[in-house]
Amino acid sequence: MPPLITQHDLENRIHDFLAAHDPGSTDRLDFLRARFDAGLAWLHYPPGLGGLGLPRDRQPIAEKAFAAAGAPDNGPRRIGIGLGMAAPTILAFGSDEQKQRWLRPLWCGEEVWCQLFSEPGAGSDLAALATRAVRDGDDWVVNGQKVWTSMAHEARWAILVTRTDPDVPKHQGMTYFVLDMTAPGVEVRPLRQITGEAEFNEVFLTDVRIPDSQRLGAVGEGWKVAQTTLMNERVAIGGGASPRESGMIGVLAKTWRENEKVRDAALHDRLMTLWVAAEAARLTAQRLSAQLAAGQPGPEGSAAKYAFATLNQQISGLELELLGEEALRYDDWTMRRPDTVDFVGRSPGYRYLRSKGNSIEGGTSEILLNIIAERVLGLPGEIRADKDVAWKDLPR
Ligand SMILES: Cc1cc2nc3c(=O)[nH]c(=O)nc-3n(C[C@H](O)[C@H](O)[C@H](O)COP(=O)(O)OP(=O)(O)OC[C@H]3O[C@@H](n4cnc5c(N)ncnc54)[C@H](O)[C@@H]3O)c2cc1C
Repeated sequence: MPPLITQHDLENRIHDFLAAHDPGSTDRLDFLRARFDAGLAWLHYPPGLGGLGLPRDRQPIAEKAFAAAGAPDNGPRRIGIGLGMAAPTILAFGSDEQKQRWLRPLWCGEEVWCQLFSEPGAGSDLAALATRAVRDGDDWVVNGQKVWTSMAHEARWAILVTRTDPDVPKHQGMTYFVLDMTAPGVEVRPLRQITGEAEFNEVFLTDVRIPDSQRLGAVGEGWKVAQTTLMNERVAIGGGASPRESGMIGVLAKTWRENEKVRDAALHDRLMTLWVAAEAARLTAQRLSAQLAAGQPGPEGSAAKYAFATLNQQISGLELELLGEEALRYDDWTMRRPDTVDFVGRSPGYRYLRSKGNSIEGGTSEILLNIIAERVLGLPGEIRADKDVAWKDLPR
């Protein structure tokens, strides 16, 4: 169906909005809330929920116009999990009431979200998870441990997958909730990473009560809901639209240009190979986001995320080689709890160390290759001997 609002209409709406809400004099939060209410936040969301029901590829028009007017942004690096994972899941599975409650403060950056999926015994094999939720009247009582939870120390809300029926095979007995991170029984402890910082945490849940009204999707359908989160996560990590020669490859190209002494034909060859690969990944990500106009992301997002991780590690490795011993001086090993992850604004050493996690977070590269093999290329699947065994009978 063609969009009801043309590009010209959209530009006029943004123009009128900016005339009525001067970015220079309007309070930041008031501005963001008004932008959401005008449907100019995420344009492909439905009217009333921050959007106008437009195709996704219209978003850059709005971002460009707001940036040109000096408008405040919603701090996307701080709320990436909310924007990229929680919001699309709430949109797909939430009730009207849930959407109204959570989406506006999420987009405006008033409430940070985190993702309570991984556990000590359930990472790649997420469906093995053991955090138990037991129904008690209008509530669920949750006990268990989650790990590697990015930004849990900042989060007001979490998306959480639990085991509600241990008597059925592992993919069937899960239920998905939204957890209030300020609820009694939620304990967040920092985990220090190779970079020296503690961007992620372990989270202990002890007799935490979650009202049934905070369930997303049906009881026992948590796996289906979680798939929506994971598909969106891969696109959010690997599929961002960006200008040519920006991000990590931009930093590497700049380093090359500024370090005449180290240049030789062999390094040039490696630089150009990475430059071309980064450009191919960028264009593929752009095509992927255009395809998303048709609906939820599919397994193709796994390829974008795989390419992102591989390239980041190769690019940051070459950057260290170009800088030589200078690069070995690590800027700061203070234990900090950052509220954003910023590759470009940090030192070469940070980029090199932090990018190691890129091939683990959001699905390891090995798992993504399995998904591409099975679901994109149609190759034979892995043998899954446990798929019909009740979760409680699985060896642990
Ligand atoms: C920086 C960072 C941030 C993260 N943030 C979050 C977060 O916010 N929330 C959250 O829930 N989780 C988060 N994670 C956790 C992440 O999702 C898991 O680490 C990941 O899914 C892998 O799980 P695991 O660590 O248990 O490793 P395992 O699953 O134990 O894997 C160990 C190794 O075995 C390989 N392997 C496992 N199974 C297979 C297979 N079938 N075929 C081939 N190879 C296989 C893996 O590729 C890996 O190399 C984060 C991780 C990192 C590094």
